Amino acid sequence: MIIMNQGTDGQTGAFSGSLAAAAAIPVIGVTTEVGRRLAAATREASGTEVHLKSEAEIGTRSTRNVIAERGTMSGSFVIVGAHLDSVSEGSGMNDNASGSAAVLEAALRLARELATGMPIRFAFWGAEERGLLGSRHHLSTIPEDEHRRIGLYINLDMVGLPNFGRFIQLTPENKSELVASTVASLNRSFAQHGLPVEERTRRSRGFGSDDASFAARDIPTVSLFTGAGGTKSEAQAQRFGGSAGQPFDSCYHKACDTLANVYGQVLEQITDVLTDAVNELASH
Ligand SMILES: [Zn+2]
Repeated sequence: MIIMNQGTDGQTGAFSGSLAAAAAIPVIGVTTEVGRRLAAATREASGTEVHLKSEAEIGTRSTRNVIAERGTMSGSFVIVGAHLDSVSEGSGMNDNASGSAAVLEAALRLARELATGMPIRFAFWGAEERGLLGSRHHLSTIPEDEHRRIGLYINLDMVGLPNFGRFIQLTPENKSELVASTVASLNRSFAQHGLPVEERTRRSRGFGSDDASFAARDIPTVSLFTGAGGTKSEAQAQRFGGSAGQPFDSCYHKACDTLANVYGQVLEQITDVLTDAVNELASH
């Protein structure tokens, strides 16, 4: 099976997808141009034989999650997580060194306080870009009883964009008191810092960052992010500043997702707001 990219604006490079399970036949993704050439060659005459040579490697790689806990994981607890990996195209400084840095910094700040309130598990996931492998593995290997005690998952992915928005994203079908109080606490913190914010709901249960792994298991999720490959609207440019009609992240999954693609000020803001919210959870 050869899958070519669709050929619309920005969708002309080699198609890359991931399979949920091993396929019985070889599958290869090609650029729009290669796809068109192959299709044209097969149309020239019936019985035309087309050859495609590819250099590929199939193998097993290992990855790992890094987990740190604050307090004793008894009773209800909260997981705060970010993925550590990036796509192979680039270094992934915004996606997702930024989210990992925010979670690490919040954990370090919280470590200075006494652990009195809700226990927190800080998680740095492996292989998110390969199909949420790290977070899915975690959820499928913890005991059933522990699974039931996860009150909330907070996800940080892409939180340092230069052409940023500030988004709080919720899973619509999973609302709880803990979600409501956490969202209220995030909104309060954004307001205290004088920072505009926009609330969103997750579009579908099967897509997204590691929050999708939790949503798929009916665990409430709250995500903080500053945008992805989508386009910033006029209203959003008025609210957050930056350029309307431009992507939030012009280097999404590209080689240019370097340190130049991280705006320290917004990363700091998101980290402060996350720290406030986690502090509140951990001290009540
Ligand atoms: Zn990401």
